[in-house]
Amino acid sequence: MHSELHSRRSLHSLGLQADPRVSTEIPTGAAPPHGWVVPRSPTSLAPIAAVRLDDAASYETTITQATETFRRWREVPAPVRGQVVRAIGEEFRIHKEALGELVSLEVGKIRAEGLGEIQEAIDIADFAVGLSRQLYGMTMPSERGMHRLYEQWLPLGPVGVITAFNFPAAVWAWNAMLAAVCGDVLIWKPSLLAPLTAIACNAIAERVASRMGHPGVFRLVIGNDAEVGERLVADRRVPLISATGSCRMGRRVGQVVAQRLGRTLLELGGNNAVIVHEDADLDLALKSVVFAAVGTAGQRCTSTRRLILHESIADRFLERLVAAYRSIRIGDPLAEGTLVGPLISAAAVEGYDRAVKAASEQGGKVLTGGKRLSPGGLTGYFVEPTVIRAPKGNRLPIAHEETFAPILHAFTYRDLDEAIAMNNEVDQGLSSAIFSLNMRATERFLGPSGSDCGLAYVNLGTSGAEIGGAFGGEKDTGGGRESGSDSWKAYMRRQTCTISYGTELRLAQGIQFG
Ligand code: NAD
Repeated sequence: MHSELHSRRSLHSLGLQADPRVSTEIPTGAAPPHGWVVPRSPTSLAPIAAVRLDDAASYETTITQATETFRRWREVPAPVRGQVVRAIGEEFRIHKEALGELVSLEVGKIRAEGLGEIQEAIDIADFAVGLSRQLYGMTMPSERGMHRLYEQWLPLGPVGVITAFNFPAAVWAWNAMLAAVCGDVLIWKPSLLAPLTAIACNAIAERVASRMGHPGVFRLVIGNDAEVGERLVADRRVPLISATGSCRMGRRVGQVVAQRLGRTLLELGGNNAVIVHEDADLDLALKSVVFAAVGTAGQRCTSTRRLILHESIADRFLERLVAAYRSIRIGDPLAEGTLVGPLISAAAVEGYDRAVKAASEQGGKVLTGGKRLSPGGLTGYFVEPTVIRAPKGNRLPIAHEETFAPILHAFTYRDLDEAIAMNNEVDQGLSSAIFSLNMRATERFLGPSGSDCGLAYVNLGTSGAEIGGAFGGEKDTGGGRESGSDSWKAYMRRQTCTISYGTELRLAQGIQFG
């Protein structure tokens, strides 16, 4: 059975064809009619279904209802909210395979990564269930007798979640599972490149919540950035906008939300480097770099885009890396053994072409890759994973930009300070890694003058974060933190409470009044 056909059947098992937003009658013609979007498989370019878009009126209804739902949901005790999230996690377990295949079909991730993405949603649901009994506030000793001073965390309001195409389920889940136990209502605006995954995931969460007596906690608005995205971002009824995507988008969203003094949680572009030091375990480094650079066809925010090699091992390492690249199976993401699927769109392929050309013009040497592909006759957006070596002392200006494609730029260095400076010299600050068995080198990399990124790995590649830690980056990556640790605090409002249980008025700072 053709794997894409197989995954189309999983659309039915998810009930997508019955969703009022979805039509399996695909309009003919070059462009979909106004008010519709037709997601296509990036593997075969075949249309998958037609999706009806929201407009200003349906957006307004969603937000008005979300505000009403919030009034009820915030009064539900957090551990009870946790039980709703627990049941959602269980439902994701049941539909893991179908959802994972839908991710593969819609955005071209290989099967293992599509399933991994749903596993991430399950993991964060589990995390959120425990969290629902641990939304701790601190108690501080009051300087005044007969007074109690403490902090509590309260639900914030409807939260807008804007997601990128490349993690069409997991990023929403990171936000939604935490925000739901925190007592917030979710308004998800997915990428128009992956609306079906969003409809399927949101429908599962909403169905479970409704069944348990809490309809309306999980809501979806699907629409153009100008009509729906901008409206959400500017909406004062939405106290927090959590937005994942390019730095360009983050600059716009950050500005509009700041204008209304709202809160943002920004998870933006990365330009991540791996340093391979002279004493590294090269076998481990090689495997890790290949996975981090070509996994998801280089379309992870944490993909390795720059390789900073000690000059003593550079030639040897690159020789082995090129051999590894040439053995990578590229093709149908749902077929057994495929390691690299397609890019998301024609625009992404054009961006890849432009970046390869620019690197060559700037003096880089293409060691492997650099061209478009049609593996097995597939007509989708396939490109060759590419390694480009920079001449000594040339930092390749194009390597300072995030090109969302499998292009790895290799540089050499002489001492560790130089390598760390190279790691830090780009505008973005998401992920970073060092391979070394020398404790002094690795500790320097992790120290105050080391990597300036939000994520720092030792003897691991730059991608593949666990949900337990806070995830996010510095500088142009936006500064937001999602997922584990204390990221939940972004979804709540903090209240400092002081209670006097004495009979006298006691003022702080010992002030005597009257
Ligand atoms: P994108 O910026 O094109 O779009 C992201 C989302 O923002 C989409 O839903 C889009 O519709 C929305 N958007 C764009 N302009 C908007 C506006 N003016 N108002 C409201 N919404 C708007 O990004 P993409 O191509 O989908 O994803 C790739 C980018 O996302 C890369 O830069 C990648 O590094 C980044 N990313 C970052 C993280 C992270 O956690 N740091 C995770 C995944 C992806």
